[in-house]
Amino acid sequence: MSIVLIVAERQPDGQLRKATLHAAAAGADLAAKAGAELHLAILAEDPAPLAERLKDCGAKVIHTLASPSFAHYLAETYAPAVAELAKSVGASFVGAAATAQGRDLLPRVAARLRAAMASDVVGFSGAGTDIVFTRPMWAGAVISDVKLKTAIKAFTIRATEFPAAPAGKAPAEVTAFSAPAAPASPTRFVDFKEVKSARPELTEARIVVSGGRGTKGDFKEVEALADELGAAVGASRAACDAGWVPNDWQVGQTGKVVAPQLYVAAGISGAIQHLAGMKGSKVIVAINKDPEAPIFQVADYGIVGDLFKVLPELRAAIHGAK
Ligand SMILES: Cc1cc2nc3c(=O)[nH]c(=O)nc-3n(C[C@H](O)[C@H](O)[C@H](O)COP(=O)(O)OP(=O)(O)OC[C@H]3O[C@@H](n4cnc5c(N)ncnc54)[C@H](O)[C@@H]3O)c2cc1C
Repeated sequence: MSIVLIVAERQPDGQLRKATLHAAAAGADLAAKAGAELHLAILAEDPAPLAERLKDCGAKVIHTLASPSFAHYLAETYAPAVAELAKSVGASFVGAAATAQGRDLLPRVAARLRAAMASDVVGFSGAGTDIVFTRPMWAGAVISDVKLKTAIKAFTIRATEFPAAPAGKAPAEVTAFSAPAAPASPTRFVDFKEVKSARPELTEARIVVSGGRGTKGDFKEVEALADELGAAVGASRAACDAGWVPNDWQVGQTGKVVAPQLYVAAGISGAIQHLAGMKGSKVIVAINKDPEAPIFQVADYGIVGDLFKVLPELRAAIHGAK
């Protein structure tokens, strides 16, 4: 039976990155269509806690790769190990979530396996080995269906397009794989400088409040509304490029892809590259003083007005309703 192998991902604090559950659900969907088994790979200094956490999410087998060299993610150590595991188990499909790590890792794994790759996949169709990978191109302006003709196929999935794999499935068999030592590399892990924030992580937040060039660099009201709602703060590239807010707040094609329950866009025009990162949000609220702004075409609720007037009123109304 063919195998779909999904690489799990940890956060810097060692906890499971939620996108892994979405990748597992995508892997299960692909496995059902391809008539394959779902396997997971966990690389860590001690993979046991994560294996326990993922045991009942639908995988048939969990491969644990334990080594001090896997304590921190490094493409140079992870890629050869994942490729060796894929070869050893005879995986036909190797994938991960299209996170910063997944985007870095999977192309290198694909190259080692001489596998063709589809990135940022949003759906699968077809059956058996004739699987079609659906993926957005040109900032989502085009949706393409691609077939990969190599024996092993690599992919990353857009986590916001798949539900999280539910717990409660039959427990997976957990098996240890000892990867051969990675070839000597001039790259080594030195330090991880985490940006500490009391706010939720942008890609995992249920609510995101974003500001654009319309803020003219004053994010006070955007941040105040975010804090009232317990939300993460995002921004357009124009706001990030101007140096008004940190680059890791950027939502869009070249920033982060988010799909929260509620996305509030204040002073953002709605350029296609911004929409590529947020149009999967459940409810979109746009505040813009230009009634013709393209953001209103994707908004569920649109407020035509000055954000410096609208945002405080919204915040007061929400505070009052609490
Ligand atoms: C290859 C490439 C990749 C890109 N990637 C990204 C990306 O990842 N993310 C991204 O965001 N962009 C990206 N861009 C840039 C994108 O094309 C736009 O330039 C950018 O999104 C515009 O940001 P903005 O909406 O904040 O600014 P603008 O387009 O200038 O819009 C500002 C809006 O604010 C409104 N406004 C002004 N004052 C007020 C006020 N007081 N109250 C209410 N509304 C007000 C205006 O009516 C206007 O609609 C990319 C571009 C390229 C070429």
